[in-house]
Amino acid sequence: MKEQKKGLNTICTHVGQLEDKEFKGAISPLYMGTAYAFEDIDVKRYPRYFNTPNQVALAKKIAALEHAEAALIFGSGMAAISTSLMAFLKAGDHIVLQKIIYGGTYNLVVEEFEKFGISYSFTDGFKAEDFEAKIQENTKVIYIETPSNPLLNITDLKAVADLSKKHGIVSMIDNTFASPVNQNPIDFGIDIVIHSATKYMGGHSDICAGAVASTEEYMQRIFHLAKNLGGSLSDYTVWLLERSIKTMGIRVKAQNGNAQRMADYLYNHKDIAAVYYPGLPSHPDHDIAKKQMKGFGGMLSFELNTDFNSSKFQKSLKLIKPAMSLAGVESTVLSPTLTSHSLLSAEERKRQGIADGLIRFSVGIEEAEDLIADIEQALEMVRKEKELAV
Ligand SMILES: *Cc1c(COP(=O)(O)O)cnc(C)c1O
Repeated sequence: MKEQKKGLNTICTHVGQLEDKEFKGAISPLYMGTAYAFEDIDVKRYPRYFNTPNQVALAKKIAALEHAEAALIFGSGMAAISTSLMAFLKAGDHIVLQKIIYGGTYNLVVEEFEKFGISYSFTDGFKAEDFEAKIQENTKVIYIETPSNPLLNITDLKAVADLSKKHGIVSMIDNTFASPVNQNPIDFGIDIVIHSATKYMGGHSDICAGAVASTEEYMQRIFHLAKNLGGSLSDYTVWLLERSIKTMGIRVKAQNGNAQRMADYLYNHKDIAAVYYPGLPSHPDHDIAKKQMKGFGGMLSFELNTDFNSSKFQKSLKLIKPAMSLAGVESTVLSPTLTSHSLLSAEERKRQGIADGLIRFSVGIEEAEDLIADIEQALEMVRKEKELAV
């Protein structure tokens, strides 16, 4: 009998689970060992070889979630990103990267690549033509991130995958913002999918981890470098991450719903100047997002009217906390100008369309009414201050 393909929440809760043969417990046992007897000459278990029982089990779950043949788990999102990039680039090679990518990835490229003799180009936009325009004879990798941070720009997955195939280039995506719940880039032909598992996979703001999923062949290539670089994740955190992913489907779907509610509410608010959310029909890439995403995600950005004090607003929020990271079950906000994008020049921020007062909103799983009430009371504080000033 043909095995039925499992649905999202079943994969989250069951796939890759280790069996507790001794006590028949309902959860995966945790194996913290760093020393194992040789099974045969090819299987030497060791945490930095990415092949302890818990690592192997969780990798199966992540591969299933991303419709991939294989996966590896890393000690951070950046370990996953740096290892994947370096596995496919050597001196003399060139990479095309999307105009706007995660700050850590941007720093890795501009601060480190030159000394390895790797050249790079950033695109001028998010369209396939913008990527094609930067391809050179020695281009080996195209790197995208969609939705992007903080303006939620959307890159067309299929168009970029087709372009990469046409030129024999490996395509990679940072799929962190969407999570595997909302977007499976491999279905559109993208080769390698990377996650900062610190975000939606972890989901509780208490785990730092990364993951990569792709074909067996590509994962072997990444593994060969990974074991030398040594960016594996401790088995205890692997085990915690497995527990977190069990609820990822329901968490992220709740966050999708809340983010859409917040986006609709903010979009219709007289004190709000702009809202960036791919689930809004007003978003310039809404149609592409609809085509390639199953949900529009829990991240959005917005700007208050220019005469409203954005930092006063953020300080006045009571339930929604200012925080650097994102994707937790609790709602958080941050100012890209003061935090994630503070190292960019004012000119570069302007070029990227990031207004000084822009607020990035990571929407959690609280009741939407409570989030709206919190925003309303903070806006009221800002309004009062404005009246006092005149
Ligand atoms: C956080 C993040 C990363 C880096 O992940 P770490 O786990 O902090 O190393 C990469 N990409 C995106 C989109 C992120 O949000």
